[in-house]
Amino acid sequence: MPISVKNLSFTYNKKSAYEKRALSDVSLEIRDGEVLGIIGSTGSGKSTFVQHLNGLLRVQEGSIDAFGIDLSAKKPDFRTLRGKVGMVFQYSEYQLFEDTVEKDVGFGPKNMGLTAEEIKIRARESIALVGLSYDEVAQRSPFELSGGQKRRVAIAGVLAMRPEVLVLDEPTAGLDPKGKQEILDLIVHLRGYYVKTVVIISHDMDEIANYADRIAVFHRGELKYVLPARELFEHDEELIGIGLDVPVTVKLKRRLRERGIEVPQDVFTDEDLIRFAVSAAGGGE
Ligand code: ADP
Ligand code: MG
Repeated sequence: MPISVKNLSFTYNKKSAYEKRALSDVSLEIRDGEVLGIIGSTGSGKSTFVQHLNGLLRVQEGSIDAFGIDLSAKKPDFRTLRGKVGMVFQYSEYQLFEDTVEKDVGFGPKNMGLTAEEIKIRARESIALVGLSYDEVAQRSPFELSGGQKRRVAIAGVLAMRPEVLVLDEPTAGLDPKGKQEILDLIVHLRGYYVKTVVIISHDMDEIANYADRIAVFHRGELKYVLPARELFEHDEELIGIGLDVPVTVKLKRRLRERGIEVPQDVFTDEDLIRFAVSAAGGGE
């Protein structure tokens, strides 16, 4: 178990007029090797939750154990933690700041105190991993690149730390459909190198349903469900009730049922549903 969160609560601006409780009693285990999707409407606490995982926000109530590091301790070993848990923030392209792509990507390894040679190896490797050409981009200013390329550079900067757990806060926000697809494919591709476990926030249910092994649903600071997608969508009415969308396939299944057409429980993906519809229409497999 790389990360175990127990009874985590968090309040912004405690004891001020702006006090705002953002998390209430959240317990969740992040499993080795999984893609954990996190979904919930705006303000439900998703970002607040993940910012605890690499120590950006300090534990107020409850506890977090990440790779044996107790994040509720007085002085957790953040240096070790940040080498294990990499965080890609929302709109991460706005956090690029160095004058060349290579320097930006090498910033983390440099802070870790690695040698110039090792920093270079890691920058090369990470730039290639995100699908950019080192020779073309390394010496350019990140600010000259396209939006999608900048986001890739930002992800490369996190990968250069060779994290085991990669956390991404709405990595596809603001991209066009093609850009979204590319980033999602990239995330899938990254597993199998040193990244083993992925935590990905999204507000697009269809997107998350296709990529996540399990989905955690946040609502008003509480964790409502954490289930494999197929099981989660059996709660479609409750999800719609808390203002979330469900995948098109789930909606279609419901409509068919309302018309007396029984759809087996295990029909779930687009492909399942197409096969079912074709066979129901007398077309066989
Ligand atoms: P999400 O990522 O699901 O949109 P957030 O974790 O950003 O939700 O926010 C949860 C709640 O905490 C919201 O009500 C939000 O307004 C509040 N909040 C988030 N960041 C801050 C902050 N820096 N200061 C005060 N309140 C905040
Ligand atoms: Mg957020």
